[in-house]
Amino acid sequence: MSSNITHWINGKLWDGTAERTGDVYNPATGEVSRQVDFASVSDVDTAVAAAKAAFVEWGSTSLAKRTEVLFAFRELLHRNRDEIAALITSEHGKVASDAAGEVQRGLEVVEFACGIPHLLKGAFSENVSRTVDSYSIRQPLGVVAGITPFNFPAMVPMWMFPIAIACGNTFVLKPSEKDPSAAVRIGQLLTAAGLPDGVFNVVHGDKVAVDRLLTHPDVRAVSFVGSTPIARYVYETGTGAGKRVQALGGAKNHMVVLPDADLDLAADAAINAGFGSAGERCMAISVVVAVEPVADELVDRIRTRIADLTVGDGMRPDSQMGPLVTKPHLEKVSSYLDAGTAAGAKLVVDGRGHPISGDEGGFWLGPTLFDQVTPQMSIYTDEIFGPVLSIVRAQSYAEALDLVNSNQYGNGTAIFTNDGGAARRFQHEVEVGMVGINVPIPVPMAYFSFGGWKNSLFGDTHVHGAEGVHFYTRGKVVTQRWLDPSHGGINLGFPTSS
Ligand code: NAD
Repeated sequence: MSSNITHWINGKLWDGTAERTGDVYNPATGEVSRQVDFASVSDVDTAVAAAKAAFVEWGSTSLAKRTEVLFAFRELLHRNRDEIAALITSEHGKVASDAAGEVQRGLEVVEFACGIPHLLKGAFSENVSRTVDSYSIRQPLGVVAGITPFNFPAMVPMWMFPIAIACGNTFVLKPSEKDPSAAVRIGQLLTAAGLPDGVFNVVHGDKVAVDRLLTHPDVRAVSFVGSTPIARYVYETGTGAGKRVQALGGAKNHMVVLPDADLDLAADAAINAGFGSAGERCMAISVVVAVEPVADELVDRIRTRIADLTVGDGMRPDSQMGPLVTKPHLEKVSSYLDAGTAAGAKLVVDGRGHPISGDEGGFWLGPTLFDQVTPQMSIYTDEIFGPVLSIVRAQSYAEALDLVNSNQYGNGTAIFTNDGGAARRFQHEVEVGMVGINVPIPVPMAYFSFGGWKNSLFGDTHVHGAEGVHFYTRGKVVTQRWLDPSHGGINLGFPTSS
């Protein structure tokens, strides 16, 4: 990748001159490594026009041809996985194995989309009335857009576009301006896989680009993933402009530990899910609800494990946790350490003192643990999106459940227990979209759909799986009669089946 990152429009890098650009950092050193072009309204219009022109042909391209391209893309992704992962690490900061895992999870959606001929099959009923047949078909929408967050620069776009283009749509992606390179590389691989020009486009930028996509008359649908305030805005603006919108928002994921749980398993899970990717995952565990009497023991086991974590440059093979994405984000996350202490929580492990194997200019914060957190504190109410884990103590299962259900978010949750009945009751009673039972990060596989409840999702369709296919298509039902030689005559009555 060159030091300037630009748009990918109509199968090539944009050759214009941007009016505005943004800095892209290497979070492990704190240095600006690249500049990214920010799209103007007319740049977005250029990309949408390319997508609209490409739809004429792509929307009626055979399923066999579409899947041929997707299979080829899958091979190229496999072959280039490490290169894309390295790009992600260099701009996001997550460790190389985590970045490779993200590409893998995106690749699984590509594999799901390779099955589109089966997924788009409609239904057929013969003789719904005498000599009349009915069948349903699903057709693409046209130009659709994806707006994605910084924390999964490859996977989240791949939740969207493989299914969208498999369904026959053309796509305009607006990735995060913090780590934009992976999206361009993906565009290049799609073209190399044989995707016609204009079917997949990338425009970089900020609110200017997003707002244009949300109101552009030729954009039929918008998929968004990001923070809750922006998700709400995107949903309201996009639907206000008459578009179909799915907008996935933020999270505060609780992990409930019942007294009969395996505490070593629970402590390992809390570490993995709390501090993996420096807590910058929408499915990260940020609150552990310890149902007494296990809290003291659990806190002890988590604290001991934190001490052994290696925090450092994501390119070093021994690093388990990398830096935060930007300096402002580091400052925001760090401010919660003071806020939590001031509110009366017990700072068991202060991440500011954790040893770091990396450049001192990097955006570092080590894993942090708070105990005695209560629901009124800002460290509990706010999505911190960093390596800060809170322990809330509950006296009963009912109290723990009430905490989870009272929270404004409902993305993911987990319960740790050896009691099957309690686990079954939890999965039934909890008001959250994705539930883990002795699994801390219950991200659904590509053939299920991913999405939360409450303020974690605006709209009613989750991403990928069958709901993804539904989102990117619209249904049509055809009723046909091939006339016999005789003619039914005039009948002004409402058609009924007889
Ligand atoms: P963000 O909301 O700041 O940005 C997301 C996208 O919106 C980016 O492309 C950004 O350029 C754009 N954007 C930002 N401000 C905007 C504005 N005012 N108007 C229009 N567009 C704007 O989110 P982020 O910081 O990149 O990502 C982290 C957030 O994403 C966290 O809240 C996390 O929980 C959430 N997230 C949710 C899921 C999920 O599946 N629910 C998955 C990943 C991340």
